[in-house]
Amino acid sequence: MATTCNSCLLPISYLNIQIDEEGICQYCRNFRSTNYLGVDVLKRDIQPALALNNSSKYDCVVGFSGGRDSTYLLWYVVKILKLRPLAVFSDDLFIPDIVYENIENTCKILNVDLRRIEHNYLKKCIKHHLNSWIKRPVPETLMFINVGERIGYETLVEKEAVKEGVHLVFGGRTNMQMDAKYKTDLMKINNKGGRLSWFFGYLKQILLNPFLAFNLFCLKVQYKEFTVTHWKNKLIKKHNLTIIHPFFKHIRWIEKDLENVLFKELNWAIPEGSKNSSRFGCEVDTLRQFLYLKTLGYNDTHVDLSFLIRDGQTTKEKAKDVLEPTLNIPQDYIKYILNKAGVNAESFLEKLNVKYPDKIN
Ligand SMILES: [Zn+2]
Repeated sequence: MATTCNSCLLPISYLNIQIDEEGICQYCRNFRSTNYLGVDVLKRDIQPALALNNSSKYDCVVGFSGGRDSTYLLWYVVKILKLRPLAVFSDDLFIPDIVYENIENTCKILNVDLRRIEHNYLKKCIKHHLNSWIKRPVPETLMFINVGERIGYETLVEKEAVKEGVHLVFGGRTNMQMDAKYKTDLMKINNKGGRLSWFFGYLKQILLNPFLAFNLFCLKVQYKEFTVTHWKNKLIKKHNLTIIHPFFKHIRWIEKDLENVLFKELNWAIPEGSKNSSRFGCEVDTLRQFLYLKTLGYNDTHVDLSFLIRDGQTTKEKAKDVLEPTLNIPQDYIKYILNKAGVNAESFLEKLNVKYPDKIN
């Protein structure tokens, strides 16, 4: 019996998957390639925000995480759109050295000002959330582990734009990421419904593992993140900001083009032994991907590669070659992250292996 969709890499255990009689999942069956609007429309769409600009130094602000999408975005804004951006990097204090180096290098090559905004929301919460999570280690509550990270990139960038009198903000989200909804859906009651279902699912998980809520500071940050989109939208409205994610509707995100820019023009470095340019950003995200794989048997790598297959950018065979080494995160690196988070790595992994002895790793 097949263990994945016949067409992509999603396993038959993937959340809410529906495999038809031909062995094809609903994501492959319903996939329609986007008709991107193109660079001319993008240039037109940013004009109103540029007309409001009060800064003599910058035309726009770019949310810059040091990941491959926002690095390519920064290059695109400078080289193709010919704008003068301020790059804003929200540092959650779990950033590998190689990412810092890439960030500084990129800004130097592109001659872009870099502003690093440090915050400790994640750092102050992670120990509590990891130690609570391991008492009942289920995939539903893995969302707790990076609580505090979102505050950084959801509002800090917009605040810098306001400070500078800039009205145009760029973000690097892609259609590929929109497919990784399983992480949010796991928390929902019956894995379905909207925000309310998510909220009741959250309460259910707190009842099943009350330790997750036994810390006032973390509880406040949880609440802050739950309402962060609301506050962000208020800020956008009040200061008349325009937020553009060009890889959604305007520009087709093509992995080959992106890697050409990263490796040939921006001298990007990737960790030794790494087989592709994705997934080596924030250390907490790496840990979470490891834990999704351990508890579910899949993670974002399956979702990303499946998107590339559907979008005609790779074949299932080629994607399989990338999958294995990408999933294989060295155990020592996971221990290093756990220890850095303030958790006893040995006993954490021991408890995890008791509950999930037969899964990958
Ligand atoms: Zn599929």
